[in-house]
Amino acid sequence: MIAVLKSTATEQQIENIIEWIRSVGLDVHISRGHYQTVLGLIGDTRKIDEDLLSGLDIVETVTRISEPFKQASRKFHPEDSVIEVADTSVGGDVFAFMAGPCSVESEEQIISIARDVKALGATMLRGGAFKPRTSPYDFQGLKAEGLELLLLAKKETGLPIVSEIMNANHLPMFEDVDVIQVGARNMQNFELLKELGRTKKTILLKRGLANTIKELLMSAEYIMAGGNENIILCERGIRTFETYTRNTLDISAVSVIRELSHLPVIVDPSHATGVAKYVKSMALAAAAAGAHGVMIEVHNDPARALCDGPQALTPAQFGDVAKGVHAVLDAIRE
Ligand code: PEP
Ligand code: MN
Repeated sequence: MIAVLKSTATEQQIENIIEWIRSVGLDVHISRGHYQTVLGLIGDTRKIDEDLLSGLDIVETVTRISEPFKQASRKFHPEDSVIEVADTSVGGDVFAFMAGPCSVESEEQIISIARDVKALGATMLRGGAFKPRTSPYDFQGLKAEGLELLLLAKKETGLPIVSEIMNANHLPMFEDVDVIQVGARNMQNFELLKELGRTKKTILLKRGLANTIKELLMSAEYIMAGGNENIILCERGIRTFETYTRNTLDISAVSVIRELSHLPVIVDPSHATGVAKYVKSMALAAAAAGAHGVMIEVHNDPARALCDGPQALTPAQFGDVAKGVHAVLDAIRE
């Protein structure tokens, strides 16, 4: 349930109403916009007399949120959420460029890529240390060592780092990781989501291979229900009958998510297409559709990459994509 307060409401009146709502055992999420304050009531809202609430002097409207996701809903938080990550942010007018290899392979590899992508416009460095591979015989990642190497690259370049977690028991290893990624395969690992909800870490939540937008938002809700609001959503393509691309990029998900939710949404054109030559056009499409950023796989030697080489761009190709994205952003912001 949300209560939109009148712009004339005083601080004291706002405090009183919040105290009253809390006194019946509900939590209150306060969203202060430029013009209005919106109170989101969390918990069993049957405990609140809706007529009494809407009859209060300072209350403009009371609405029940009909969607199953509440805290992730834009009704709950009308303005775009901007998620702070180290000294940068994701959401609102800031466009994020997360770039880096599918997996961290060696110190030379990650440092070289980090330096190159930073010089070419990346705002964050991505790199998998724990890899969810389809085959148990494929490279599984450098694990703890991979995270150490990412931290080294962060120290060298200042870029915040993004890396995937697969097991909640690994959380202590992610203490200095700026953004914890939940990959497509774990989007509905509810126990993992609940654990991440108990932290204050920024979570990059990727859409599952065969999940609806509503299911993605419900997974975000799991994290938010635990008290963690620092979530970035990611459209990375869904599985369809098409075989020329690895997945099918659902670009309309960007528009739908932006309407339904206040959370920032980025696009991963690398996993969406699986083909390096299609990454640029899909990144440009993402920017044109209103995405808050892109995540792109970049490798210094794609032909020898231990994971996802066919979709990896060289640093120079990434630079070209970043230039194109900026041109699109300039065009649509005019
Ligand atoms: C990744 O980003 O490295 C990854 C495995 O992506 P996804 O979970 O989207 O397949
Ligand atoms: Mn990959």
